[in-house]
Amino acid sequence: MAQLSLQHIQKIYNNQVHVVKDFTLEIEDKEFIVFVGPSGCGKSTTLRMIAGLEEISGGKLLIDGVCMNDVPAKSRDIAMVFQNYALYPHMSVYNNMAFGLKMQKLDAKIIDERVQWAASILGLKTYLDRRPAALSGGQRQRVALGRAIVREAGVFLMDEPLSNLDARLRVQMRAEIGKLHQKLNTTMIYVTHDQTEAMTMATRIVVMKDGIIQQVGAPKTVYNHP
Ligand code: ADP
Ligand code: ADP
Repeated sequence: MAQLSLQHIQKIYNNQVHVVKDFTLEIEDKEFIVFVGPSGCGKSTTLRMIAGLEEISGGKLLIDGVCMNDVPAKSRDIAMVFQNYALYPHMSVYNNMAFGLKMQKLDAKIIDERVQWAASILGLKTYLDRRPAALSGGQRQRVALGRAIVREAGVFLMDEPLSNLDARLRVQMRAEIGKLHQKLNTTMIYVTHDQTEAMTMATRIVVMKDGIIQQVGAPKTVYNHP
């Protein structure tokens, strides 16, 4: 269970560049929130503040009622998938997915169960011994998803996870991520500049522009389609 409260969140660089000006939003447990907006409007910065990868300059972030502002990334109940996947090239698919859990010093049996489970739902069972270089783009993307889902976090963040895939694969992965969301029962926050992605995936869309929220609502209320 993970409910987020973002209260007047700001990001200021060098005491002057106001990248996120005032981001206020209540996110309910198990929502699929999509941040959309043009490049540079502050989507990624907001996501990174939620993850704990960027310091919050002003305002407050609560997860399940607890203030997260000073909680380090590794201690937050959050998993994140990056645009470039950030896989470890020298490690097998198995170890890419297991690495974070090993760092947490989880029992090897539990690690194995989680990795095998992720591999089976992502169709990676026969690729566990391969290195990332020996995979297709879609398979790499699945490994990145797998590495995040094995954390079993309450909050799942994705920053343009499909932008390196071709159009056909993007459509396929959109549907797969939608199914994953239902299976995992997590709260999702997904960043994209692609309106179609936002329309098809979101329970609610947050439209950003120049560091503020322009509009929030269900896809139908945000985009009027003829
Ligand atoms: P989006 O994800 O919507 O494309 P970002 O959150 O990545 O936007 O970036 C928002 C703005 O913050 C951009 O104008 C970017 O240039 C600026 N920015 C990002 N990092 C820094 C930094 N370290 N110092 C100053 N400005 C930055
Ligand atoms: P490296 O060569 O990078 O040290 P290994 O392939 O030897 O990594 O595996 C390290 C750990 O990961 C071992 O505990 C091993 O049991 C586990 N492991 C790696 N690949 C698999 C796999 N396909 N199935 C089950 N466990 C695996």
